[in-house]
Amino acid sequence: MTHIITSLCIRDGACVEVCPVECIVPGIPEEEWPLYYIDPDTCIDCGACVPECPVEAIFPEEDVPEEYQDDIQLNYDYFTDGPGYSALE
Ligand code: SF4
Ligand code: SF4
Repeated sequence: MTHIITSLCIRDGACVEVCPVECIVPGIPEEEWPLYYIDPDTCIDCGACVPECPVEAIFPEEDVPEEYQDDIQLNYDYFTDGPGYSALE
């Protein structure tokens, strides 16, 4: 399991500061990847990022609301089809 960032994300970066495994990254380029994304293979489901988000954009994968279900795959895709961590280098 993993946590998922939904399209509510306003890219303020607050969640990045608290993740103990540094698996949250900003989507780059922003025009193509407008959210921050969580690497599902690295997330340890600690939940630390959830209360940090000012817009409550982060959910455990199994609790993502119906209207944001499409955002689940985007978190996975950013690290497989998108630049993932390499965009930070
Ligand atoms: S649940 Fe924990 S490990 Fe997963 S992204 Fe949030 S802070 Fe990082
Ligand atoms: S704290 Fe919330 S709004 Fe800010 S970057 Fe993380 S998910 Fe996006």
